[in-house]
Amino acid sequence: MSADLSYVQPTADSPWGTYLSQVDRVVPYLGELARWAETLKRPKRALIVDVPIEMDDGSIAHFEGFRVQHSLSRGPGKGGVRFHPDVTLEEVMALSAWMTVKTAAVNLPYGGAKGGIRVDPKRLSQKELEKVTRRYTSEIGIIIGPQQDIPAPDVNTNAQVMAWMMDTYSMNVGGTATGVVTGKPLHLGGSLGRVKATGRGVFVTGREAARRLGLNLRGARIAVQGFGNVGSVAAELFAEAGAKIVAVQDHTGTVVNPNGLDLKALVPLSRTEGVVGFRGGDVVANESFWDVPCDILIPAALEGQLSAERAKRTQAKLVLEGANGPTGPAADDILADRGILVVPDVICNAGGVTVSYFEWVQDFSSFFWDEDEINQRLDRIMMNALNHIWDTADRHRITLRTATFAVACERILMARQERGLYP
Ligand code: GLU
Repeated sequence: MSADLSYVQPTADSPWGTYLSQVDRVVPYLGELARWAETLKRPKRALIVDVPIEMDDGSIAHFEGFRVQHSLSRGPGKGGVRFHPDVTLEEVMALSAWMTVKTAAVNLPYGGAKGGIRVDPKRLSQKELEKVTRRYTSEIGIIIGPQQDIPAPDVNTNAQVMAWMMDTYSMNVGGTATGVVTGKPLHLGGSLGRVKATGRGVFVTGREAARRLGLNLRGARIAVQGFGNVGSVAAELFAEAGAKIVAVQDHTGTVVNPNGLDLKALVPLSRTEGVVGFRGGDVVANESFWDVPCDILIPAALEGQLSAERAKRTQAKLVLEGANGPTGPAADDILADRGILVVPDVICNAGGVTVSYFEWVQDFSSFFWDEDEINQRLDRIMMNALNHIWDTADRHRITLRTATFAVACERILMARQERGLYP
């Protein structure tokens, strides 16, 4: 039986379509639990809200907001909120489902959820951004909470946005509830190491994958698409390990330098103007990014970027998915046929939600850990999860993506089965 939901029409390469075909690929490895597999193809709950605000010029603007809780079988919902003009319900559904798989892959006691507002935050003043955030939080307040569903940062959201969300929710419930969101500023119950956690996880899993491939990081050439919190931090860590960052693309354009870009100058510039004004490399057409000679490719931007056509062209030996859903099923097959190893999003970028979990635990106990302890625990969780997934991939002779889904979906569906259906 396949899930046919009247409110979404996925295509083969759309985010939800990609996710559904990833589920189809894992079903043969689920044994008796396959009976429950349809559960994975239906979000438990999806909320669409209107977010009206008064703009600085006195006009009234309305934005579409979403919060989808894909699964709550293993614990409260968990997942970020993104602000982007192209956000759709279908996209947020897929992102929420990938959170379910991700939290299960690293064995955190969470389900999966995701939120989004269809807005271009670059066109809002700080005051307007705060209003949008607060009204959205208030509207989804009926389904979030420290034990229900815990939002976090994602594309175009940050610690300040989380502070507003925490404050709005707290005002509505009548007491400070730090555990309702993660990725908060440090002095408001945030955790050390959270900002860099996703990039760090990409580095830790990438370093291990490179070791297993016999690819020396010293001198390895790396191309990074998306130079925000994930891409830039991963690039810095790989550069510290001796790799050369030979190409970087962000929303302003693409810069390349076969001898390695100087990150000490590039990273600060990327935060203000974007990478295209950088003098220490050549600006090239965006599409040429995919042809740059490199050993490791890190897509760390949006879904669907590594298309089938680009998968045929890339010269990388290893792909590290910093973004969620950058590779569609057709591209996945091409990469596998070409012998290019993909460390999939649902393990590669799980460092962020792992330190989010540490933040949530610290908030409950009101006892805060030092950064070394956080990084050590993060590295251990990521390495254990990756090794387990690798063994599963070897045993069944399947890709790391299908192996990650196998490990995660077994945990999710086992919980589903043990809890049973209500009523
Ligand atoms: N937005 C991040 C992700 O896609 C982090 C989510 C979280 O910390 O809950 O994994």
